[in-house]
Amino acid sequence: MCQDKRRTIMFDFLIVGAGFAGAVLAERLASVAGKKILIMDKRNHIGGNTYDHYDEAGVLVHKYGPHIFHTNCLEIFEYLGQFTKWRPYEHRVLASVDGMLVPIPINLNTINTLYGLNLSSTEVDEFFKTKAEKKERIITSEDSVVSKVGRELYEKFFKHYTKKQWALDPSELDAAVAARIPTRNNKDNRYFTDMYQAMPLRGYTRMFENMLSHPNISILLNTDYKDIVDKIPFREMIYTGPIDYYFDYCFGKLPYRSIEFKFDTIEAEVFQPTGTVNYPNEHAYTRVTEFKYLTGQKHPKTSIVYEYPKAEGDPYYPVPRPENAELYKKYQRLTMGLANVYFTGRLATYKYYNMDQVVGQSLALFKKLYPPNEIKKHVNGQKLPAKQHA
Ligand code: FAD
Ligand code: UDP
Repeated sequence: MCQDKRRTIMFDFLIVGAGFAGAVLAERLASVAGKKILIMDKRNHIGGNTYDHYDEAGVLVHKYGPHIFHTNCLEIFEYLGQFTKWRPYEHRVLASVDGMLVPIPINLNTINTLYGLNLSSTEVDEFFKTKAEKKERIITSEDSVVSKVGRELYEKFFKHYTKKQWALDPSELDAAVAARIPTRNNKDNRYFTDMYQAMPLRGYTRMFENMLSHPNISILLNTDYKDIVDKIPFREMIYTGPIDYYFDYCFGKLPYRSIEFKFDTIEAEVFQPTGTVNYPNEHAYTRVTEFKYLTGQKHPKTSIVYEYPKAEGDPYYPVPRPENAELYKKYQRLTMGLANVYFTGRLATYKYYNMDQVVGQSLALFKKLYPPNEIKKHVNGQKLPAKQHA
């Protein structure tokens, strides 16, 4: 008798979203736990917001804005290092203030250039002290900045940038937002001080291709999970999309901030003096990034991106405010009643996370689902050897 070869595959996991949160779990579940995975995305590509591609001029650009990898966690750096070689890169940002381009985060060089001074580290500490406003409690982003550097520098560097970025005054945003940007009394002009700072040598998309190239992983693109969730057989789900969408906005929409990215290619090798220039005060855009600094690509032309924050559009930034955290908690409580559905990532847990934090969150979820000793029992201790990719 003939057998019907079109037997439906039963997937162990349906993973919604092929960004870092979903791809890390797909990779771990397939290669370590031996599970059959369907990872899907409503976009036409993998990589989530870190997706990069070559533009018409042949310059490697990041479709959803500049992504610079940095972490203090060796485990995360080494984990991703199985899927890419790294290009060491330390990001530097200048802010356009008072007609000058000065380093941000604010440091000794910033103050000396801005005010025509020649202070030492000790003197600049004194300088900050005389300017800083005493605050009983640091609750908002305004508190966070004025308590360190005072109102004048807050106005020059933070107030208007933040208003553009979030359509909120810093006094309406959690302290943690502006606290991402430290204040330094030294001449360290780097944007980040993490131990490991590097870019995937051939880009993020190539790295994701390597992560997902496993025989147990199938990829489905251009599809909203709600269109297929009842049609595809699977045992468990990992969800990395917006949590409010999962629950049909039953408690109302969680606010997200979006951005319009405007790309341009210039007929010159170099456009600006550093990877990113921030415009806290002038223009409708917040910053301009020139990709070749990040990627190290050599090309006679150069491509840049302008970021115009906006309310509507793809959900890029959760908005850290107490009332939004409350609304998120209501959704989170609903997740607790669900069997076999797990939420991870920036949108599904409504957290303003960097890439490494999302990777860490998904690795932790994997360890919770399949503790290392359980893996040994199930796969006879046969962890697949780490792959090395270009
Ligand atoms: P995402 O990358 O958003 O992936 C979620 C995926 O789910 C998306 O591809 C989406 O299409 C898909 N999806 C959603 N809903 C559905 C659905 N219904 N059906 C199917 N698929 C769905 N971090 C850094 O560490 N360094 C940086 O320099 C940096 N720069 C950034 C710049 C910008 C402009 C932005 C917005 C973020 C930046 N980040 C940076 C943060 C970084 O993008 C995130 O930490 C990371 O990409 C989050 O990964 P994720 O998988 O959680 O989410
Ligand atoms: N920020 C600012 N001026 C700057 C840079 C940052 O006011 O020149 C504030 C702003 O509120 C911003 C936040 O600090 O949203 C965090 O900045 P970061 O560069 O980390 O933002 P991201 O890269 O996540 O967009």
